[in-house]
Parts: sequence; C-alpha cells; structure tokens
Amino acid sequence: MSGASADRAIVLFSGGQDSTVCLALALTRYSHVETVGFDYGQRHRTELDARQAVFAALETGFPTLAARRGDDHIVDLSGFGAISQTALTQETEIWMNESGLPNTFVPGRNLLFFTYAAAIGYRRGVTRLIGGMCETDYSGYPDCRNETLKSLERSLGLGMDATFTIETPLMWRDKAETWAVTHALGGDHLVALVAEHSHSCYLGKRETRYEWGYGCGECPACQLRAAGYKKWRENL
Ligand code: ZN
Repeated sequence: MSGASADRAIVLFSGGQDSTVCLALALTRYSHVETVGFDYGQRHRTELDARQAVFAALETGFPTLAARRGDDHIVDLSGFGAISQTALTQETEIWMNESGLPNTFVPGRNLLFFTYAAAIGYRRGVTRLIGGMCETDYSGYPDCRNETLKSLERSLGLGMDATFTIETPLMWRDKAETWAVTHALGGDHLVALVAEHSHSCYLGKRETRYEWGYGCGECPACQLRAAGYKKWRENL
C-alpha cells in the first residue's frame, strides 16, 4: 500500500442513527471521509434510502462538513443475505432466541463489513475504518464487542500487511449519550437531521413521526432509540 494518510477515513454508513453520528464525527475530525454501505438483501430498503437523505441534508445544513465527503461505495452482499436466514432479510416476526439475541442478528456481519471496508481502503490509501458498533446497547451481539473488533483490527493488519485502525466512537456510549454527542457536534440542527433522516426501525416503517424520528415505535430498535432520546432530554 502507498500513500496512506492519517487524515482520511472510511465510515461504515448504513443510514442508521449510530452510523450517521459516526459520519458527522468523522467529517469533523478528518479532512477526507469516504463511506461504504452494504446491500445484503435487507427486507426493506429504508436504510439505504436514508443514506441518501442524510447525504442531502448534510449538503444543505452542514456544507463545510459535507465538502469533506469523498466517494460513497455500495457493496452488493446479497449472497450473504441468502446464507443468513434471519429476520432482517426475511419476512418473519422478530423474537428473542434462547441466548438473548434477537433473530435480527446476522452472524458475523460486522466482520464481513470491516473486511470489505479494509479492502476498499487498501487500494485507496485509507487505513482508518470507523463504525458505530456499541457494546453498551448491543452486548449480546458478539461482533459488536470491543474485543472482537480489536482482534479483527489485528487480523486485517496481518492479512493485508498494512496497519489498519478500527475506530468505534460509540462503543461505550448508550443511546442517550449518542444523542448528547450529536448535540455537542452540531447542536439542535444536527439532532433534527439525525431524527428526521436516519433510520433505525427493524420493520422499515416511516408512517409515524415521533420526536426521535420515524419508526414502528415497538420493535427493539425503535424502543432503544426512543428511550435514549427521552433520557437525553430529561437530563439536559
Ligand atoms: Zn420499529
């Protein structure tokens, strides 16, 4: 690899709340920020649509940050969706399995995502990879854990003979703190952008607008997002 620059980053950007906040953080910290999104046969395309809405809103509301945006990469992982028979990729009810994981869990997803991001970064001289994984809220997801990602960072470095850095700025923050980070970064305007355009609902619903954004209001992702917003507002 040649020309790697510490001032560049690739953000794993799904259009969800956490990755939207990570994108805003990265655009504040680094001068060149590329994004990567994965189409793995999600049963709704709401998140992929949310990505474009976030880009457009950044352009309008935060032009200085948006000017630091580089290329956006979409990786087709529909084959991965086919082997991961879970609720996110099939029309089934959401339920918790015996190990406390919702059936929305796609095994090993983040390992795959970071490996693709590293492969993209490798040829573009970008070795800083940023993701919104959070052990505080998603401790049951083994591929969101800090230890997993530290191990992956080392494996990517060994496997590609390059020094990769995986940054997870939300790892130890709960959803209330994520809203607080958002406000600290861009005030009410950025909070409004995240609420309006980022998408969390597992069911892909956007019919009802709550103060924290759109969603069904019932699924685990909506409940987490709503509870975090409420706690953040109460502690202001
Ligand atoms: Zn929902």
